[in-house]
Amino acid sequence: MYRRSANGIVFYQFEELDGAGLTHAFLTRLGGVSQGPYATLNLGHTVGDDLAAVQENHRRVFALFGVDRGQVVSPYQVHSAHIRPVGREHGGTVQNSTDGLLTTTPGLMLLFRFADCVPLLLWDPAHRAVGLVHAGWRGVANGVVRAAVEAFVRHVGSYPGDLWAGIGPAIGPCCYRVGPEVIERVAQAVHLPPDRVHHRDDGLYLDLPGTVQAALEALGVHRIEASGICTACHTDEWFSHRAEGGRTGRFGALVMLE
Ligand SMILES: [Zn+2]
Repeated sequence: MYRRSANGIVFYQFEELDGAGLTHAFLTRLGGVSQGPYATLNLGHTVGDDLAAVQENHRRVFALFGVDRGQVVSPYQVHSAHIRPVGREHGGTVQNSTDGLLTTTPGLMLLFRFADCVPLLLWDPAHRAVGLVHAGWRGVANGVVRAAVEAFVRHVGSYPGDLWAGIGPAIGPCCYRVGPEVIERVAQAVHLPPDRVHHRDDGLYLDLPGTVQAALEALGVHRIEASGICTACHTDEWFSHRAEGGRTGRFGALVMLE
């Protein structure tokens, strides 16, 4: 990924999407006005941050990407496998109990919020459709990756082999210690290759981005790029729920067809 900055906001982009006619970014925590554990570009409304600061952070992001709030649709993320197609009429809304959105509408921005869970960007260049998915371990165990690919097939007519997938910054296998019950639940839902679980002296570590990648491959999606960035290793740039003891902000991931 490229690291870029503009107007003080630092963000990352997949070079693969350059020239594709998309606006997309994985925003870091740099470039906002929030204080303390939420410093600085927190986009989470429900994490205890000052709401005026969260609003100003959104204003800065929207100004940078040239959109107004009426063009932006977000989910209220609940670790489900609910994927919703959205169009112009959904601009300015928050979609309840949803962990994936997809659209074919130019000028409609999808904006999601993260702190360790896997941000998954899906792009069908043949049908000019984009989607974002929030994939934590519960979402993966609930089948969110399969649901997202199936939603592209059903609502857009995508062929999985045409899809391009970008796996954004998330907690890596270096930092994601989990209990055996988590491994069990994930393995019940998706094919979990043995090398996605690391056995160390102090317990089991799950490679969650690698698990999402394996789930995509099992569904016939083979054009996949992973950021390789661990949010918990790099709290200077990313919010990490795990590394910061649960008291932290949320960074944004966004995509829009131009
Ligand atoms: Zn790490």
